[in-house]
Amino acid sequence: MNFNNIEKLARRNIRTLVPYQSARSLGGIGNTWLNANEFPVGVPFCLSKQLMNRYPECQPKLMIERYANYANLLPNQILASRGADEAIELIIKTFCEPNKDIILFCPPTYGMYKVSAETIGINYRIVPKINNWQLNLPVIAKSLDNVKIIFICNPNNPTGNLINLKDICYLLEITKGKTLLVADEAYIEFCMQSTLVNLLKNYMNLVILRTLSKAFALAGLRCGFVLANEQVIKLLLKVITPYPLSIPVSDIATQALSKENIILMNNNVKKLNMTREWFIKKLNSCNCVEHVFPSKSNYVLVRFKYSSKVFKTLCNKGIILRDQNKNLGLSKCLRISIGTKKECEYVINSLQDLSME
Ligand SMILES: *Cc1c(COP(=O)(O)O)cnc(C)c1O
Repeated sequence: MNFNNIEKLARRNIRTLVPYQSARSLGGIGNTWLNANEFPVGVPFCLSKQLMNRYPECQPKLMIERYANYANLLPNQILASRGADEAIELIIKTFCEPNKDIILFCPPTYGMYKVSAETIGINYRIVPKINNWQLNLPVIAKSLDNVKIIFICNPNNPTGNLINLKDICYLLEITKGKTLLVADEAYIEFCMQSTLVNLLKNYMNLVILRTLSKAFALAGLRCGFVLANEQVIKLLLKVITPYPLSIPVSDIATQALSKENIILMNNNVKKLNMTREWFIKKLNSCNCVEHVFPSKSNYVLVRFKYSSKVFKTLCNKGIILRDQNKNLGLSKCLRISIGTKKECEYVINSLQDLSME
């Protein structure tokens, strides 16, 4: 055996795996980071716990109570995870039988459903979105054999739109008792009235993902939540790692979920939504822009006449965007996170300069 060829030891699916390209791994030398849908301004916190010789609680009680209160649910309907990304994996590991069950998702959408399935070694089926990024219900309905989980991102990343509520209800009805519908609400704070939380009491098969990474401005903290009925949460608790959240994480998350900080978060969200509407109006007046897709979230998808030129020119000015060209149906599209008003103005000025060339 060639001792240098460790590659061969890895599982086959890992050898062929194309890893998720995180915004940080893509890098660039920017000063205007608009590629990862982070909140543009941070909220400062101080640690209140100093000693860490003891393991943390698996599900810190006060933090869970506060999230339950925030989400209008009971504590036994909440599970905390190391970001929503860990929750995606956890749900697949808990519910999908290897070599039998598969997951289904609808591109263009968030990339981690596919990467998690591939990492775990579970097959996936894709049913592309139609009609302004809505679900193709007839095709989904015919494609449910062996589907254990459907992932729906709502509002959808990277397109920014909401999925029709009646379509989601229809899916929940036809999948009752057979398939979980996981609604990824990573961005729901930017359009809170559209949360599916109220459907949990009618549908045992609904699971909702949340995170503190976006509206709560805590992407660096790594804290997410699963909202589901108690039976689902109990199963996930059997599979989750023993200590998913470190003491500093739950310490800060608990503070972020205080009444005052939730009010602060909601005010920040209102301001960001206003910046977004201003930004969309300005984008529409730029010559190099072909189409701006409406958004309910903290990013906008934009189709440009020459997107690679826009991407490079802005990159040279330190503005880092997310290229969506390779995502299904998104040729010539870039996704732009909503930054501060000043950052958005800088983008608009740069695009206007570019239009004049
Ligand atoms: C950012 C994002 C996540 C990941 O959230 P973390 O809590 O940071 O892991 C999950 N889903 C979608 C759609 C996202 O955009």
